[in-house]
Amino acid sequence: MDLYKLTAHELHDKLVSKEISSVELTENVYSRIDEVEDKVQAYVTLDKENAMAQAAKVDAKIAAGEAIAPLAGIPGAIKDNICTKGLLTTCSSKMLSNVVPIYDAHVIKKLRADDAIFTGKTNMDEFAMGSTTESSYFHKTYNPWNLERVPGGSSGGSAAAIAAGEAIWSLGSDTGGSIRQPASFNGCVGIKPTYGRVSRYGCVAFASSLDQIGPITRDVTDAALVLNTICGKDEHDSTSLPVDVPDFTKALRADVKGLRIGLPKEYYGEGVDPKVKAEIEKAVKTYESLGAEIVDVSLPHTEYAVITYYIIAPAEASANLARYDGVRYGFRAANATSAPEMTRLSRTEGFGPEVRRRIMLGTYVLSSGYYDAYYKKAMQVRTLIRRDFNEAFEKCDVLLTPTSPVVAYPVDGKMDPLSIYMLDVTTIPVNMAGLPGISIPCGFADGMPVGMQLIGKVLDEETVLRAAYTFEQATDFHKAMAPLGGNK
Ligand code: GLN
Repeated sequence: MDLYKLTAHELHDKLVSKEISSVELTENVYSRIDEVEDKVQAYVTLDKENAMAQAAKVDAKIAAGEAIAPLAGIPGAIKDNICTKGLLTTCSSKMLSNVVPIYDAHVIKKLRADDAIFTGKTNMDEFAMGSTTESSYFHKTYNPWNLERVPGGSSGGSAAAIAAGEAIWSLGSDTGGSIRQPASFNGCVGIKPTYGRVSRYGCVAFASSLDQIGPITRDVTDAALVLNTICGKDEHDSTSLPVDVPDFTKALRADVKGLRIGLPKEYYGEGVDPKVKAEIEKAVKTYESLGAEIVDVSLPHTEYAVITYYIIAPAEASANLARYDGVRYGFRAANATSAPEMTRLSRTEGFGPEVRRRIMLGTYVLSSGYYDAYYKKAMQVRTLIRRDFNEAFEKCDVLLTPTSPVVAYPVDGKMDPLSIYMLDVTTIPVNMAGLPGISIPCGFADGMPVGMQLIGKVLDEETVLRAAYTFEQATDFHKAMAPLGGNK
């Protein structure tokens, strides 16, 4: 049986009823990895030995009649910027290519406590900066729907692993769209929780006021299950919110009657591929037929979101990445003749071009004389973007947009960085305002999956999940399997 094709909740039922064992399931996922990883290259590091040992432990618990958690014994893949004790955590950078963390990220601790299994660490854009997974220091990752196309990014490895059957669930991180956009490009479900819902402790920092960890899965129920495990207050992260975590599976009701769904007009304009737009419009019709009320809204400062992000995110990155100096840990250049030269060479050799570009930009916008003109101004615009959402949410309960204006584009498409930056216009504002946003599959264009984004109010993941679940129950898009077609 191809267990690797199933969802976590289906597999949980089979484990509990003893129809399958976790060892059998984990073996099955690794044999799928053996079969397709050459083509997809979703992983940086695999950890079969520990995964199998964990699986045996879970089987022993089941045999002893102990109750198990929903993710117990189910193999998931972890983005390589999330610290795993004893297992390489590289951020897909030469700078961290030798780093084995001495502690677990908060989310990993929680997953371990629930006996989840980790297949390995997934490939990503270096330090989560990018939208294609092409800036990884190690190798590219290829889209299982068409191996000539990118899997998106920066969590491209985590999304491709799900689409290719190389893991049952995965974790990504999202600073400006890095969970939702790859989920959309790979026909998966991906949710970025409200800023502060999930502890960032142990997630290698990119832009701390925007970063958030979240799940990439095959369906909405699995996303709710992973959220149940990873959310919650953590004393190690001062931005983690002291709020109760609901049981997100309780929000999974197939019912949108009377739900007000807002369509922000700025997300449907120029630049959205007409084929993508057509699929989104069909989804809107589906919601209408299910009893939702569709309302037009406006988010007038949307056009400033990307440029504002490219001031705030690099500014925070330049501060966060200052710690990689060749002294304490990570890559150290050989042959330097003085300490300053060692730091300079370690940083120029250890970071790739995109990371260097952002450090320079961030240092510039924070420098005295420019701070007011750029960084302070950007923070003011960020407030306007947040206010736009507050006003829109007076008229609706949830917003519906394309997750990305386009489907996955060709690898080595020779797109200039600026055009790629601009494509994040649909995801970045959500991070700027700290809101929850999900991407779910809603159609196909040119044979590639199209994703629809649902954005909710702060801490209202439940309405987002309910709306997503209702659509999923009414459609079959989430059941399609990636064909691993095209050549690499
Ligand atoms: N693509 C965006 C960037 O390059 C977002 C990345 C992310 O969410 N980590 O910054």
